[in-house]
Amino acid sequence: MTHEHRAQDLQTAQKSVAEQGQGTQETTMTDLPTITSTTLADVLSFSPDALLVVDMDGNITAANGEAAILFGYQQDELPGQVLECLLPERFRQSHLTHRLAYAAAPRRRPMRTGLHLFGRRKDGSEFPLDISLRPIRLDQTNIVIAAIRDMTIQYELEQQRLQHAERLRIQSDLINLSHDAILIRDPINRILSWNHGAQELYGWTAQEALGRVTHTLLQTRFPVSLVEIDTQLEREGCWEGELTHTHRNGHVVIVESRQVVIRNAEGTTTAVLEINRDITRRRQLEQAQSSAHETTLAQRAFLQHLLDALPSSIYVVHGKDARLLLANQTATTIWGAQWPLEQPMQLFLATNHIEILDAQGGHLPPETWATTRALLQDETVYQHQEIIQQPCGKRLPILVNAVPLSSSHWHSMEPSEHHTLDQCEQECLALVIHQDVSVLKQAEYLKDEFIGIAAHELRTPLAILKTAVSSLIRQAARGHGTPLEDWQLEMLEDVEQATNRLTDLTKDLLDVTRLQSGRNVLQRAPTNIVALTRRVVERFAQTITQHHIELQTAQEALEVTIDAKRIEQVLTNLLSNAIKYSPQRGSVIVRFAARPAENMLEIQVQDTGIGIPQQQQASIFGRFIRADNAKAAGISGTGLGLYLSRTLVEQHGGRLWFTSEEGKGSTFFLTLPIGDVSQGENVSAT
Ligand code: ADP
Repeated sequence: MTHEHRAQDLQTAQKSVAEQGQGTQETTMTDLPTITSTTLADVLSFSPDALLVVDMDGNITAANGEAAILFGYQQDELPGQVLECLLPERFRQSHLTHRLAYAAAPRRRPMRTGLHLFGRRKDGSEFPLDISLRPIRLDQTNIVIAAIRDMTIQYELEQQRLQHAERLRIQSDLINLSHDAILIRDPINRILSWNHGAQELYGWTAQEALGRVTHTLLQTRFPVSLVEIDTQLEREGCWEGELTHTHRNGHVVIVESRQVVIRNAEGTTTAVLEINRDITRRRQLEQAQSSAHETTLAQRAFLQHLLDALPSSIYVVHGKDARLLLANQTATTIWGAQWPLEQPMQLFLATNHIEILDAQGGHLPPETWATTRALLQDETVYQHQEIIQQPCGKRLPILVNAVPLSSSHWHSMEPSEHHTLDQCEQECLALVIHQDVSVLKQAEYLKDEFIGIAAHELRTPLAILKTAVSSLIRQAARGHGTPLEDWQLEMLEDVEQATNRLTDLTKDLLDVTRLQSGRNVLQRAPTNIVALTRRVVERFAQTITQHHIELQTAQEALEVTIDAKRIEQVLTNLLSNAIKYSPQRGSVIVRFAARPAENMLEIQVQDTGIGIPQQQQASIFGRFIRADNAKAAGISGTGLGLYLSRTLVEQHGGRLWFTSEEGKGSTFFLTLPIGDVSQGENVSAT
């Protein structure tokens, strides 16, 4: 063979082996190319690939240097080895099967694209490889030339690619899991990426959204101009703000948008990443809240306006120290000073040198103020007479109504900046109304003057009349003088009764004027109040026949320092009312109860009579006030007893009030301080 022929042959053979890398033709036994051993030797030595020559029984007959290096053998170690020794153990069996099948029908097999073939080096280490086979005839025998390529780098690259792809897949899953809309748009705002969150939020599928211009698709309304946003994005690389979008179905979607610019290595903007969080519901709630707030403020302003228009002073206090919650303008006029919101009552009074006095102008302890009683004792106080001494020294007689309010009233009010709802829940609340009665007092004063004079003037003729009638009856009974006819005696007894009533009335009237003018002096002395009450009860028990009257007490003696006559007058009035206003008979129970916390004793007078109508309860302690049902029942009275009783009890430092239900009965409560509280007060009229 000439040198040219060899070179030509070698070229063909190399091409043939190389083609095995890309070749697609099927090769059959009959058209196997033939090669000479010289050419084969040249191919082996010149080929840049690792080549093995294998016979049809799988024995390696030759190997080039590259193949020996690849598998870690000396070149002369490979011939004579079975091909499977170059495979990892686990592949050998299956390879044997493949090889036998291949020997039966040898054909050209190109390099595979998959990377799942592995070779085994002499030292046992493995590496990924690819292999192409080329059956060839050599000296009348079929052999196979195997070209082997180390695929380690490709394999590692592929592994990295797979890992990267996996990471991307997870990231994409995460992005799709988000409820936020995440989208990527190119520099001219065409959508490049659109996650599930975006689909949920806007109603457009990724397929529909990709390629569309975001602001057109979502009808974006911007808080500032788009140019400003784009400028900021370009300058700072990011933008955050609120955008208004439109859902596919037309409803408005408000989002909190964060946008970040993505730039390439040259710094050119390639895309914008936009994350939009739906805040529609939050904004709607805020709007509803703010409009509710405005309505509340408007209502409060209207309420304040109404309160300011009222002629009476109205204020609401809360908490143990009676802090001011709201007040009208008349309150300022009556106090003579402005009471700042949230200032405790006593601090306000002390700061402004304002004093609260009793009806007679005497000191009134804070715990007996109508406001304090409603607030701290949960008591509804009607028509309590107090005097306010203003900062300028002027004294204003007032009637106070104070009502404890339940905390549910408070809940409906907006919590102010000063207190939380939690605090409010525990706090007490009271509404207090002051009525300036100076004008009434003046008129009353004149009336009292008149009544006082009239009663005083009536006393002497009445006394003469009473003495005359009594002595006429007494003398007639003794048989002195001309005997009287029965009818004459009856008439005289009627006159005596009427005179007695008139005497009582004038006494009451004089008491009223005396109390009004503060001229009443209590004659206090230590008194067994239980014995006194028992005496009064027994006196009534002897005269009544229709009613049951009973005193219930565990104690026989309890000493209090009182004007016994005056307290007897009060008890008499309460018991006589209980009997008088129980025309259908019934029972009257008198009870004692202790109030150790207040250092008071309490006497209750309970009846089952006609009761006092609800709407008249507030005024029943007024002078000459009588309930309609009493008048309608034809029960006579003057409407002075309760007024006198309350004034006398309060003069003792006690209180008088009642509970009553029309048609069911009433209970009057009377409290008196225990112990010596007189402190030489017998001379005082307070
Ligand atoms: P008087 O009994 O002389 O009318 P009071 O001042 O004692 O005067 O009572 C005022 C009014 O209060 C009475 O007219 C009556 O309407 C009502 N009242 C007082 N006590 C009772 C009672 N126990 N039950 C029902 N009504 C009563």
